[in-house]
This record gives sequence, C-alpha cells and structure tokens, in this order.
Amino acid sequence: MLQGEDPTAPALMLGSHTDTVRSGGNFDGVVGVLGAIETVRLLRDGGQKPRHTILVVDFLGEESNDHGLTCLGSRCMTGELTAADLDRPDGEGVTLGDQCARTGLDPSAMISQSWLGPDEVSAYLELHIEQGPVLEQRGVEVGVVTAIVGIERLIARFLGRADHAGTMPMSDRRDALAAAAEAVLAIRQLGCDAQGAGVATTSRVTAVPGSPNVVPSAARLEAEMRSTDPVWLDAARAVLAQEVAAKAGALGVGVELDWIHDNQAQKLDDSLQSVIIGAAESRGLSWAPIPSGATHDAVHVARKIPAAMIFVPSVDGRSHCPEEMTKLSDIANGIDVLANTILALDRR
Ligand SMILES: [Zn+2]
Repeated sequence: MLQGEDPTAPALMLGSHTDTVRSGGNFDGVVGVLGAIETVRLLRDGGQKPRHTILVVDFLGEESNDHGLTCLGSRCMTGELTAADLDRPDGEGVTLGDQCARTGLDPSAMISQSWLGPDEVSAYLELHIEQGPVLEQRGVEVGVVTAIVGIERLIARFLGRADHAGTMPMSDRRDALAAAAEAVLAIRQLGCDAQGAGVATTSRVTAVPGSPNVVPSAARLEAEMRSTDPVWLDAARAVLAQEVAAKAGALGVGVELDWIHDNQAQKLDDSLQSVIIGAAESRGLSWAPIPSGATHDAVHVARKIPAAMIFVPSVDGRSHCPEEMTKLSDIANGIDVLANTILALDRR
C-alpha cells in the first residue's frame, strides 16, 4: 500500500494472483502482483505523492481449486462467494469451507465481509500475460483488454445399448460412444464458426463397458464454450442441444445435457481503457484492443467497480505449462504502462 495525501479519496487498486495451476508456468498472475509492487516502488522512489491511496492485492486461489471453483479471493472481496460454494466437496468429500478453516480462514467471514465498492476503490487495474499468441503474432507490445469471455460448461450423458461387437449389424446398433463422437465434432464446428472470440472444447469423453468386443452402452462427455458475446453463447447452447439430440437420435441413442454456467461475459471499463491507451502512447508503445479468452479476478471486481486489464505478450502463446514465458522487456513495458496509467488516474 502507498498512502495517499487525500484520506477522503477512494483508493486505486492493482494486482493479480500468485497461485498457479499444477505443472504451470512462472508468469501467470505473478507478473501482475510483482508488477503492482514494482509500480508502487517506482512511484515511491520517484518521490511521487499520490492523492489516492494505492492498494496492491494478491487474490487467493484464482485458478480452479479441487472444489471446482475459481477466483476465491476476488469472489470473497466482492461478496459473490456463497454458502453453496463453501459446501462444494473435493474428491475426498472435504468441503471448501472446511478446507479454508484448516488453513486458518474463517469461512463465515468469507461470505459476509465483502467490502469492495466505488466509495472504497475507484479503479482496479490488472497487468497479466496474454496466455495466447495474438500480441506476439501481430508484433504488438501491449494489449488493452476489451472484455473477458463468459463460460458455459456442458456434461452430456449418452445412453445406448450394449451388444456383441461381432454379431450385431452396424445398422441395428445403439452405439453411445459413436453419438458422443458426433457431439465432439459438432462442438468443435460451433467453436470454428463462433462470434465474440468464441471457442468450444471437448475435454473428456468416457465410455462403458470399454471392452473390445462390446458396443458401448453409455458415454459421458465434458465440454465448454467461451465467448465475450452472451447472445452468441445463449444461441450456441440452443443450437448444440438440438444438434446433439438429433445426431444421437439418428443412432438410436438417448442423450441428457447438463449445463453449468461458470462465468458471465464481462466488458471492461471504457474510460479506463482510454487511460491505458493514453499511457501506452505516451511511452511510445504499440497497443491493440484484445478480448481475454481466459477468466481473471477482474471479472468479479468489474461487477462492483470500474476495472481494466493490461496484457503483455506470451512467447509462442504458451501458458498453463512449464514453457510459459514472457520477455523481461515486455514485462517492463507492462509495468511502465501500469505506472503511467496510475499516475493519470491519480490526476483525474
Ligand atoms: Zn492468471
């Protein structure tokens, strides 16, 4: 924290997260937290006396945890965390609330003590690696994030019939795995035709009984769709449901779809984006507007106060893997833009 001269002015908040996925890289989140600390150090060492207090935040548990929940800290700060979230079990049946209590947190306070609002904090800025290849491919130094995708997750269950794989003619089968395979391709095609930086991915398909001489009787598929365009996401859900049912029906297979609404698409603040663009241009850095296909703490913060994100390029677009890399010069550019954005906001 850097104390501001005006105790009545709302604070400016900057940061990200320092947790990471298993076998992840060294830059996702950490760049934003260290970048925020470095920004405060630059201002302090430069003798800057900001009017607004500057808060540095390191959000707890941004990545999906064993209970299937992302952005624990930012949900907590914004009052979005619910009692039902705390009841989510992990693989061993331990609830998220119990897990938090084990680490010394007070679960009841986590769902009742949100404090973030425009009177407390007037803007949130998150510096982050892009985690994709777009900035590098276009030779752009800084990405100004326009919106963060919404996510819809799907679990589909296919019910066919087990038969002898040698004696049942192809035309008489009710092959659950073949129906799931049709769904995988339909999901992929939907992503290829998507609007609003949309993508669609099947991540897992399982089938039983899994014997070489038995036609699969049941299959289960997990997939997700992402887009910054909530209208497209809604329409895509309906299209997919229809297509999967039709293709399964043609194979004599029943299908049940369960949708899990993970995150709503979130536009980031236009006026903050303009300030970031001004800061990049004042430093002679190239910039481009860019949607975020990954979710971030900024999604939750943006529902309470104006929020914006600054992206810096990822080498080869790699992320959530040990090869994740952002060049030091790009990180320095990001911090430069972050610091100059904070200075401009402080003068507003
Ligand atoms: Zn991250």
